[in-house]
Amino acid sequence: MISKNIQNLGTENAFVVLARAEELSRKGKNVINLGIGQPDFKTANHIVEAAIKALKDGHHGYTPGNGILELREAITEDIYIRHKEKINPDQVVVVPGGKVTMWHCILMFGGKENEILYPNPGFPIYESAINYSGAKAIPIPILEENNFSINIEQIVSLINNKTSLLILNSPGNPTGGLIKKSDLDILVKKLEEFPNLYILSDEIYSQILYDENYNSMLKYSSIKNRLIILEGWSKTYAMTGWRIGYGIWPLKLAEKATRLNVNSISCTNAPTQYAAIAALKGPQDQVKTMVKEFKERKELIVNMTNNIPGFSCITPEGAFYTMPNIKKTGLSSKEMETLLLEKLYVASVAGTSFGSYGEGYIRFSYANSKENIKRALNRIHDYAIENNWNS
Ligand code: PLP
Repeated sequence: MISKNIQNLGTENAFVVLARAEELSRKGKNVINLGIGQPDFKTANHIVEAAIKALKDGHHGYTPGNGILELREAITEDIYIRHKEKINPDQVVVVPGGKVTMWHCILMFGGKENEILYPNPGFPIYESAINYSGAKAIPIPILEENNFSINIEQIVSLINNKTSLLILNSPGNPTGGLIKKSDLDILVKKLEEFPNLYILSDEIYSQILYDENYNSMLKYSSIKNRLIILEGWSKTYAMTGWRIGYGIWPLKLAEKATRLNVNSISCTNAPTQYAAIAALKGPQDQVKTMVKEFKERKELIVNMTNNIPGFSCITPEGAFYTMPNIKKTGLSSKEMETLLLEKLYVASVAGTSFGSYGEGYIRFSYANSKENIKRALNRIHDYAIENNWNS
């Protein structure tokens, strides 16, 4: 019989939508994909060249379980440049994708006796991994009325002596919401009252931010010894398929995180680690160009969405998603996802794929050209008019 834990495992619906969108495309349908969460840019050439060079130079073997030292040092330098915080390269554990830090961290703090707080709607793997670990998954509602940020009092009210881990994600997937510095300052003060609680701050979208400077949780020295940062290259450097990310762990946990690596993945692909060094140390123009382009698309998609009867959309602060409210259309999130894909050939992801608090919402990814965004939103607009959706 397969284990009970495996039966508790969820999945990521965005991949199911992608498979169906591809099937429809193969059948000749003109599908526009606003479903998938990955930049539609290619990895910069100097990064690709660094991987090719690494292969030619003979980097074909295993690397240390926590990643090559040169990469971990490059990460500490990048963290200093971006956040003005000094970390030790031994705190850094390189992994094949940001998701692995999430998985390992949740395994470390999971288990039957523990409760874990996670954002809902939020990245679906938080809830899935918590359930797999046997811990109780306690949702933190991420609500439109709070601009898709957190409610600090509510978080504090959910913490008890079984709470082992608090997961935060800012800018957030699927909402694009940001936890403002002023809120983080207050939250951290409150967290000082719970010294046994660990925090996982998922900062994978930290550089895809439009009008604010990023305020990493690394800045708060009072929680430093119980803070895990999830970061990576997938979004910032358009490297989702390379599979590389990293965690910054309190020194006392870094060895355990490395042990989890050694037990599961051994280490991260060697040439990819050299590519990741080139990404951090090389020119950053592509990052800037991409964020500028995302900002323009964000304005376009928010304006067009707010013109669709029955839809209303607040402006996200970061990442490349919008989370329109569709309650006035009278359709559920899942019904809307199905209708948009099967009738209008527009791929999106139901809000409920990100947790129960996502009901009444749909996620659009604007990692697609302005041209395609316009075509997709026009199709939805025309359908809404024909079918008398409410404004
Ligand atoms: N965290 C969040 C909030 C994400 O949205 C994603 C990917 O979509 C990840 C982590 C995982 O990133 P990676 O592709 O590097 O595993």
